Amino acid sequence: MRPMKVLWVVSLLAATAAFAGEGNEGSGGGGLAEQNVRFAYANLGRSLDMCLASPSCQLTAEETRLVTSVRKSGGGQLVFLSEKENPGTFLIDGAVRVAKTEYAVGATIYLNKDLLYSANAKGELKAIDTAAASGALLHELGHQQGERSHDKLDLLAAKLRSLLLLDTQRLTYIFADNIALTALNQLESGLATRSTQLLVEDGENLTDLTSLVASRVPCAEIFGPGTEVESFLLWNLHWGHSESRFYGGVIRMAVEGNLEMQCKTPAGGRPISSGWAIRGHLNLVKSHDAAPYRIDSPSSTRFYITPAE
Ligand SMILES: [Zn+2]
Repeated sequence: MRPMKVLWVVSLLAATAAFAGEGNEGSGGGGLAEQNVRFAYANLGRSLDMCLASPSCQLTAEETRLVTSVRKSGGGQLVFLSEKENPGTFLIDGAVRVAKTEYAVGATIYLNKDLLYSANAKGELKAIDTAAASGALLHELGHQQGERSHDKLDLLAAKLRSLLLLDTQRLTYIFADNIALTALNQLESGLATRSTQLLVEDGENLTDLTSLVASRVPCAEIFGPGTEVESFLLWNLHWGHSESRFYGGVIRMAVEGNLEMQCKTPAGGRPISSGWAIRGHLNLVKSHDAAPYRIDSPSSTRFYITPAE
């Protein structure tokens, strides 16, 4: 059995780093669904903490024990395979499943690439979202703890998925519905910090913008030198009007919202400051394939934080 490959991280900024380095299939490996699954996996520790702390997750005593064990154990690496290319791989107990693993902590989790996308009403393929991916991974990690019932684990997965969707704000761009910003909020009072992870996707790539926003949060300017950003919370995110315009083939999309920052002073204080506005922009470029626009290189994305007016 391989040693545990994924470190479960609670810290917001560390989670971002873990995502970037997670997996060993190469940085460009896979489409949006695979990226969503990897993101969900790298952040699963945080998601499970939310579920354990929140009455909204509605865990039974048995489920609480199982989730606690999963949280402590971590998991093995992820491998993406196609059932079509490997017939029978995911045929388990008479049904083709989205994933499989062994009844052993730290075992590899195999994901069925064919079921990570589903067609919408227009016949376009939509990738599994991070909330559903988190549920699917919890299902497999539940098997690793020895739970054999797929039905019990499906119910548990649905509870986690519902919780994650509860505090999620998703903004789709009306003229290119492959472009979406997602704010995953952690608001539960049972946990020490309130925080947001901000993601952007364009139907092909998922980019975590959390570190970029954190790098602009002015904790040191407000609370003194050496004060670091612990987390931030975003709400009321919306596309801006005035700055959304064309620049020769590029659409500069303005994003606006409100921000609260939680900081950490060198003396160990954890001051919070509200009343901030965040503005930013993403550049969209016309692409030649099916989707009309793609996010330009993430390095062209900018955020600015100012006092709210
Ligand atoms: Zn199962």
